[in-house]
Amino acid sequence: MAAANAERPKYRDPDQPIGARVLDLLDRMTLEEKIGQMTQIDRSVASPEVMNRYFIGSLLSGGGSVPAPKASPEAWIDMVNGFQNGSLSTRLGIPMIYGIDAVHGHNNVYRATIFPHNVGLGATRDPELVRRIGAATALEVRATGIQYAFAPCIAVCRDPRWGRCYESYSEDPAVVKTMTEIINGLQGEIPSNSMKGVPFLASQKHVAACAKHYVGDGGTTEGINENNTVASRHNLLSIHMPAYFDSIIRGVSTVMISYSSWNGVKMHANRDLITGFLKGTQRFRGFVISDWQGIDRITSPPHLNYTYSILTGINAGIDMIMVPYNYTEFIDGLTELVKANFIPMSRIDDAVKRILRVKFTMGLFEHPLADYSLTKQLGSQEHRDIAREAVRKSLVLLKNGESADEPLLPLSKTAPKILVAGTHADNIGYQCGGWTITWQGGSGATTEGTTILEGIKKAVSKETAVVFNENPSSDYVRSNNFSHAVVVVGEFPYAETLGDSLNLTIPSPGPSIIADVCGSVKCVVVLISGRPLVIEPYVSQVDALVAAWLPGSEGQGVADVLFGDYGFTGKLSRTWFRSVDQLPMNVGDKHYDPLFPFGFGLTTEPVKAR
Ligand code: BGC
Repeated sequence: MAAANAERPKYRDPDQPIGARVLDLLDRMTLEEKIGQMTQIDRSVASPEVMNRYFIGSLLSGGGSVPAPKASPEAWIDMVNGFQNGSLSTRLGIPMIYGIDAVHGHNNVYRATIFPHNVGLGATRDPELVRRIGAATALEVRATGIQYAFAPCIAVCRDPRWGRCYESYSEDPAVVKTMTEIINGLQGEIPSNSMKGVPFLASQKHVAACAKHYVGDGGTTEGINENNTVASRHNLLSIHMPAYFDSIIRGVSTVMISYSSWNGVKMHANRDLITGFLKGTQRFRGFVISDWQGIDRITSPPHLNYTYSILTGINAGIDMIMVPYNYTEFIDGLTELVKANFIPMSRIDDAVKRILRVKFTMGLFEHPLADYSLTKQLGSQEHRDIAREAVRKSLVLLKNGESADEPLLPLSKTAPKILVAGTHADNIGYQCGGWTITWQGGSGATTEGTTILEGIKKAVSKETAVVFNENPSSDYVRSNNFSHAVVVVGEFPYAETLGDSLNLTIPSPGPSIIADVCGSVKCVVVLISGRPLVIEPYVSQVDALVAAWLPGSEGQGVADVLFGDYGFTGKLSRTWFRSVDQLPMNVGDKHYDPLFPFGFGLTTEPVKAR
């Protein structure tokens, strides 16, 4: 026994301090092994053999249903473990870390609980709820054998024309800062003050988190995705930076770099802000990861001079590169640059130490392979209940009747006949938005959940007839004697650049459905959208108006509040502009004259036992 222990390398001994394990392992590594650790590739180009041959340090699932549509958690685990076995079979047996975009629940996976997108969570103003969402998401991610989530997005979206605005909790840095509490859910909460600021993972039921996208992603001109953020250093540090420091204090394991530029300098090339400010001033100790082909985009066109991109990105301070396909080109390029002394060995060692520190902290060396013990967590009732609560709290009531004396909401559960209309009333895909099952999201029963229509049917009395007609004519509505109508319309799913919009209008046929229904019967409009839209022309046409954002899989949360089981409490996390001519407009702007100000939200009282 003693002999066996003596032969065990220090880095394999969990009783050794993490720093000592890191140094011991680093000492044993060849340049090839070190560069492998810095390489993250897409699972579609990976195999156990590739993991072994190139010492690949990390994998990711880009958007999309893998290993197959509707794959079970067991199938995911088998896939991840298969790759892991490739890594474990290398000389030093360093486990890989597998990352995925679990940005509103474990959203690539069929049957996972889909929580509201961040814009709705911002409206809850409830960091404790958001922490529970983080913990539930971590369990669902672990249920599929994955240990790392590319979340949270702590962008401060200053212009809703940005296609990623819904990934941002708020236009207000103070709200975004409070929502970094989600890291305490994803990774668990650091138990003592002395550990603050060091990468942390509470247990094998938690996942490594990733604060993204550093920095200024939400500040680009006209909200154009991946574009340039024009801001003084003071404004950058006041608006876009504070939530990073909060994330660091909470022990966030990784930070992802933004595609965007700051005053013309690509963030992936910004040594001052990555090495200087993030790792230096703010003492970030985890690892910095690039975005997907992020270093390629240091030049325009992308990949113009890849060697130059590698040089610039690595010397700027990026530790792990999300390559994600052309990994041999990356590995060869980086190897050449180090051998030719364009990249100092100290930079490589800094990167590898950080990656290893996170892996040791996570217990990856002791628990590299997932078992099936958590598979039941995926889409569990407990998590769906949290999501439903989040939906309830995220709804913002913008109008309720012509005056406070004649509110339309809450609706009566015993009305004889209710009309439910609109493209988004019975569509899980639409209510989940982008980053759901596929990158761009989808339409219809893309995953399991409850549509808003189904939620309404469950909420009303047995005697109440709920009639669904997606796009009824005004004649139909008038001739049918409805007590009232619920109209659910809004944006169709999108993600990233494809969601950039200059006009922010309600897409058709939403406006004509509103006109036909609300011109004919008392109606509440539930708007499904990733951001405020131009609604001023419709406000007078409707009796009540609810911003429901992108609520996710639990549509029953909408019915809970419409029918008074719970009151409306949500507050706008964004300024609701009148017209796009006012954009960008944020609280504190000189000519602040919004349709609904930041923080606005009418309330209702829950209806007691009926
Ligand atoms: C997005 C990131 C995401 C990455 C990996 C990129 O296009 O900007 O937010 O984490 O893809 O899927």
